[in-house]
Amino acid sequence: MSVRDSFVYQRCINPACGGTRSVLECEFTCPRCGDLLDVAYDWDCLPVPRSLREAGNGPTDAGHVSASRALLRRSGVWRFWSLLPFAPHEQILSIGEGQTLLLPADRVAEYVGLRPGRLHLQYEGLNPSGSFKDNGMTAAFTHARMVGARRAACASTGNTSASLALYAAASGQMRAVIFIGSGKIAFGKLAQALDHGALTLQIHGDFDDALERVRQAASRLSLYLVNSINPFRLEGQKTIIYRIVEALDGEPPDWVVVPAGNLGNLSAFGKAFLELRELGLIGRMPRLAAVNAAGADTLHRLWNEQGLRWRRGSWDRLRAESYFQELKRTQRKASTVASAIEINRPVNLPKALRSLEASEGVVCVVSDEEILEAKARIGSGGLGCEPASAASVAGARKLRQQGVISPDDSVVCVLTGHSLKDPNVTVACHGTDEHLFQEVLGRRGIGRIPSANPPVCVPNDLGQIITVIEARA
Ligand SMILES: *Cc1c(COP(=O)(O)O)cnc(C)c1O
Ligand SMILES: [Zn+2]
Repeated sequence: MSVRDSFVYQRCINPACGGTRSVLECEFTCPRCGDLLDVAYDWDCLPVPRSLREAGNGPTDAGHVSASRALLRRSGVWRFWSLLPFAPHEQILSIGEGQTLLLPADRVAEYVGLRPGRLHLQYEGLNPSGSFKDNGMTAAFTHARMVGARRAACASTGNTSASLALYAAASGQMRAVIFIGSGKIAFGKLAQALDHGALTLQIHGDFDDALERVRQAASRLSLYLVNSINPFRLEGQKTIIYRIVEALDGEPPDWVVVPAGNLGNLSAFGKAFLELRELGLIGRMPRLAAVNAAGADTLHRLWNEQGLRWRRGSWDRLRAESYFQELKRTQRKASTVASAIEINRPVNLPKALRSLEASEGVVCVVSDEEILEAKARIGSGGLGCEPASAASVAGARKLRQQGVISPDDSVVCVLTGHSLKDPNVTVACHGTDEHLFQEVLGRRGIGRIPSANPPVCVPNDLGQIITVIEARA
């Protein structure tokens, strides 16, 4: 079917405002009040699937079986087209994103403090660019095509730029412009941006500075912005939830635990669950748990310490604003080894508050050491992830220790990015190179972790090699 403009539009998140924009506009703030926008659907006028399983089988419109439809079925995002029906099929740009897996992880469960079979890891590192960002990027690029954009831009701690660079290259018609803070990007991610031919601008400053600049440049030059302020990106990220629930045979888990950076995932996950419930496709809402790193803990401070809540849209903006002003006044910058969540001014804060309220969610905070130890446990449990992703497991363990999560709860932690994204941190934390350790971890005050697995130096001598192997393996 063709999507008619009026069935899909952008709507202000503030229920009291009611501001809207057409689906074809790409200024992503409310024209009336300046708040964030949601992609909104008139479900009564759209073909709503009867079950999540049916939704996941891909576009079902009878008649034309086309090559593009076959491609859509291979995308873990677009096979759920009927739950994000903002684009006509022919505009969709897919490179096979979202073919990711929910895997049981009993050894990690033991570390977290859960009974066997109760922990699953949603491995988003399997995406084409190696992080969950591809789920959103395919949706943003599809929208960019709908509006005829030629240049797309983002500020990034690394993975958004890697994903943007890849999709721009794959589109064959769009140019990527990337803003990164100086010295703040993991090499795996920078390598991708350069390799895929993106124009990469290193700004003197951090992520929060880069985001401010890209928004200014985007409005001057009408660059298409793919940061998670872009509501279409979040539509793609909803499908992470669909795949989780699908893999659990339609039964939502008790908890979904996610690292908290710019809060795009938290926002998208809450929207996904709210819509599934609205459409009658799930009976029960899981609880969302968001995990901040101690050095980038805005959500934790506002939610846990200051009691900031969504309150159906009448949230206390002034409280958040004065918190941000205080950050500026004291020049406090985000600082964590988990670079993908090294963000102090999360743009999606209000949407995240909405998600937490709707799901009886919780927020917790973990140290860099806890993150690195969790990462080593995930790694030795058979899955490679980058530091920010391990915050989810470290957070689940903390919430377990605090008695918020109980040992019998079913828990899904989202592993947001692949371990090869940030090899420096992994080698520094396991290795014996004192210089690298100091440069990457020591200068942040991070100590050695219990599960460090350093390489063993052995003379070039078979006898000694055999002795070491027999002693250790
Ligand atoms: C972007 C990113 C995050 C943070 O996600 P948000 O949606 O911005 O909160 C976490 N982990 C990885 C690997 C990322 O790339
Ligand atoms: Zn508004």
